[in-house]
Formats: sequence, structure tokens, C-alpha cells
Amino acid sequence: MLWYDSRDWPVARVAPKTAIPGVPKPLPAEYVTLLRNGISGQVIMPGDPDYDQARHVSNPLFNNFPSAIIMCETNDDVALCLQVARDSKFPTVARSGGHSTAGFSSITDGIIININRMNSVTIADDRKSVLVGVGCNFGALNAALEPDNLHMPGGACPDVCVGGYMQGGGYGFTARIFGLNCDQAIEAEIMLTDGSVKWVSPDNDKDLFRALLGGTGSNFGVLLQVRFKLQQSAVFAGFSIRWDMSTDDGQRDASKALNWLQCNFIKDGAAKKLGYQMIWVFEGPEGQPRKPYLLMRGMHHGTSVEMMDLLAPVLDLDGAQLEYMFAPMQYSGLNKILLTTPFEVPQFPPNVTSPPPENKLSRIISRVLEPSEWLQLIHLFLQTPNDFTTIAMEIYGGAIGDVDFDKTVFVHRYAYCDTFCDVFWQSEEERPKAEAFIAKWRETIEQFWDGGVYQNYPELGDKKYAEHYWGPEIYEFLCGIKEKYDPDHVLRFPQGVGIKKYPG
Ligand SMILES: Cc1cc2nc3c(=O)[nH]c(=O)nc-3n(C[C@H](O)[C@H](O)[C@H](O)COP(=O)(O)OP(=O)(O)OC[C@H]3O[C@@H](n4cnc5c(N)ncnc54)[C@H](O)[C@@H]3O)c2cc1C
Repeated sequence: MLWYDSRDWPVARVAPKTAIPGVPKPLPAEYVTLLRNGISGQVIMPGDPDYDQARHVSNPLFNNFPSAIIMCETNDDVALCLQVARDSKFPTVARSGGHSTAGFSSITDGIIININRMNSVTIADDRKSVLVGVGCNFGALNAALEPDNLHMPGGACPDVCVGGYMQGGGYGFTARIFGLNCDQAIEAEIMLTDGSVKWVSPDNDKDLFRALLGGTGSNFGVLLQVRFKLQQSAVFAGFSIRWDMSTDDGQRDASKALNWLQCNFIKDGAAKKLGYQMIWVFEGPEGQPRKPYLLMRGMHHGTSVEMMDLLAPVLDLDGAQLEYMFAPMQYSGLNKILLTTPFEVPQFPPNVTSPPPENKLSRIISRVLEPSEWLQLIHLFLQTPNDFTTIAMEIYGGAIGDVDFDKTVFVHRYAYCDTFCDVFWQSEEERPKAEAFIAKWRETIEQFWDGGVYQNYPELGDKKYAEHYWGPEIYEFLCGIKEKYDPDHVLRFPQGVGIKKYPG
């Protein structure tokens, strides 16, 4: 996902105040006392001064009223939360960074186990691996790794945390070069819902370990720490190539380029050291009408000269313009440049003072689309009701496709790309138009869709999520793990594994 989203928003992220404050189902007093006396972190209950701040997630669309929010600081804190969850039978979810696109780390009438403060980073003496408390966000993690030129593939937004990200796969600019984030995991520490702690790896409960690599969060236990392998000497050259899509000729050129890239530039060969995404945006200087562009933005693990040699055939395509290139630098600086230069993606106007609500639709594409088919999608993009709509293609291939199927439950790795459509609205009046646009996008892209959805971009209303994220065989496997480790569904949310058997 492209939104860098680390603007210093003038209005902080606080869950919207509702006309009538939501009153969640109260947690019985005995449990409140147990938590208040036993937690070394912070217990936040409805009515507490920090409640509105703590109940929010990154997308203001989700406005839940939890019965209790526990900011855990130790394993004992997590164990006590799980004890209360078990005994009270209140539905419970974990939260790390609060960036779930369907708001799944929030819950009304339930308990949130927030492990955001459990965020230690320990680099091994040999610099080959790092142990991360999964409440750590990518901004902090990169700040710890980059002084030593170390890298672990992460995503776009520095506020996203390892906890949710890794369990959904984890895509970013360097995923084609080194693999997805979950492909870097060596071992993981998880607290099961009975309160026991387990270290899992390919040698120690390989099935549970596999389930954590793409099986999504709040299913099998509370993830505490993950040891990841590290890439050494990791600096990347960067580039942006753009196609102006404001004219008929420009739209045709862009559609041909999209098809050419699919046919020539995706899966193998030298381009394996190149990670890139195709972004459809409206942008331009403030105060002037925005223009539609197709952007190809990426990173190369090598020199600028090698990168420009690789890109030469792309730059020969009709309409392609080199917007910029950068000499090798570390991931976080280049990631920020690619997503904010010359304009932020998407480009919100200065009068937007708090993060706008957002809806997202992910669709995995596995086949080559003809230029005429890309053109159909481009024409639809140009009908968006506002300039913030962003379409992006997270290109797979490279190291993503090199990992054996049975190592993880990320089943989309052999596809061409994930394509997502992001709509935003600034007022309730704008909302129906934005939603109508995403509905039209859903209908139009159906014919090109392979049936998969990237599980890190969940959509709240998706009833067929099990089929879309994993397919029947892997879902059965995951249901078996759920039955083994959380048979009473202490952790549960609308798209939980096996949840149909235990609704509510
Ligand atoms: C602005 C923005 C940019 C993004 N950019 C990218 C990107 O570039 N690439 C990409 O792949 N994805 C991206 N995402 C999606 C992101 O990877 C997922 O939303 C991810 O799940 C967020 O993890 P989190 O810990 O921050 O969120 P949370 O909302 O805290 O967690 C997400 C899910 O995991 C569960 N969970 C969290 N922590 C734990 C834990 N410790 N144990 C068990 N379950 C847990 C939660 O209950 C929830 O279901 C982006 C999202 C946003 C909002």
C-alpha cells in the first residue's frame, strides 16, 4: 500500500466523538479489579481520560467502543489479559500498530490486547538476524537497522507494526528483491490463549509457524517476538518513470506500457534486483488542476548505472519520461522519497487536517492484460469523483515467487501483482460517490481477477474472505491449527479463521 501516511497531522488521530458517546458492554467489576491490580502497563476503561485516544485505529472509518483496552508491557500482562478474556468470554483481539484496513484490531464490546509498547529490537552480534518485539513499527525498526546498513523488507508506512504486517505477508519495494516480510522470519514467540508461551520455527511446530506466515493476526495466539534474517550492505538506487494520462494518446501509451511491462519485465532475469510498483494518481502543484499519471517507482539493489541499463527499454516506450533517479541510499529515506516526491501519494490538499476515511479493494491479477483491457481500467480511473483515488499495482515475481508454496500460507506469490483501489472522502457528502466509484471498480476488474485478495488489505464486508485469502485447502489447514491452539475462540473477529462455527 502506498500511502506513506506519516504526515504530522495538525489534528491528531483520535477516534471521532459521537453525538452520544458509545457505551460498550461493561466488563464485570471483578475482572476490572484483576486487571487494574495486575497489569504493569496501563488499563484503559470507558470513561478514562485516554479512552478516546486509545480506542482509535489508523482509519477513522472505524469507530469502535471496546470494553477494555490494555496497554501491555510484559508477557505477564498479556497472560493476564488472556486469562480475563478466557474467563469473561468477552471477544478479544490483539493490536500492534492499529493499521488493519478493516479495523480488525478494534472491537466494540470486547477486549483489546495492545502490545504496541512491546517493541524491543535486538540485532544479533553477527548482524545476520534481528529479534523484534512485534509492537515495533517500521520507522523505529529501520532507525535501528540502518546505521549498520542492515535491512529487512518492510512496507510503505513507517507507522505500520511488525505484528499485523508479517502475519499478512508483508509487501514493499524490496519484496521482489529479497522476498516478502514473512519470508524473512526464522522463528517466532507466541502466547497461546491458555497463557503458555511457545517458540515456533520450521524445526519446532512447523505447522503453527507456517500458519503465522500469512494466516493473519488474532487467530492462533498473541504474537510476541519474531527473529528475522537480515540483509547486509543494503542500499538501493531509486527511480521514477511517468506517463502523462491526461490525453487520449497518453492513455494509450500508458496502457501499452502496462502490457509491455507484464510481458517483458516481471518475473525473471536481471530485473530480479529491481522492486517496483505501478501507481495511478492525480497530482500537480497546489492551486492548479491535478493531472492523471501512471508512475513506475522503484528501487534497485545495485548501482545507478546498472539500474539505468535495466530501465533503458522502459524509457524507450512511447510516452515514458524519467521523472528522477537517485544514487544508492538506505531504504527508509528512498521509500519516503518515492512516496512523497514531488507530491505525496495520494496528494491531499493542505486543508485536510486529519487522516481522511478510506476504503480499499484488493484484487490479485495473474494473467497478462491486453492494452485494450488496461485502457478500459484507465478510462474508469479517470471517472473518479475526487483526486485522491489511487490505484496501485504491487508487482510480484522475483524473490517472492522463489519461495516454496508449503513454507507459508501466502498463496498469491506466483501471481503477477496485487492491484488495489483506494478511495478517500473528506465529508459524509462525498462518501456515497467514493463508494459508488469503488463499487464500479470492483465490477469492472472482476473479469481480470484471479479470485485472490491480499490478506493484509482486508475489506470489512468480504464474506468469502477464506476463499479469497487462502482457498479451501489452506483454509482447512488453518482451521485445524485454530482448533488445536484456540479451540474456544478466545481471539475472534469478523474474518477469523473458523469463525463461522463460532459467530459473534
Ligand atoms: C497507511 C497504511 C500503509 C500500509 N502499507 C502497507 C504496505 O506497504 N505493504 C503491506 O503489505 N501492507 C501495508 N499496509 C497494510 C498493513 O500491512 C496491515 O494493515 C497490517 O496488518 C497492519 O499491521 P499493524 O500491526 O500495524 O495493525 P493492527 O491493526 O494492529 O493489526 C492487524 C491485524 O493483526 C492482528 N494483530 C496485530 N498484532 C498482533 C499480535 N501481536 N498478535 C496477534 N495478532 C495481532 C490484529 O488483531 C489485526 O487483525 C498498510 C496499511 C496502512 C493503513
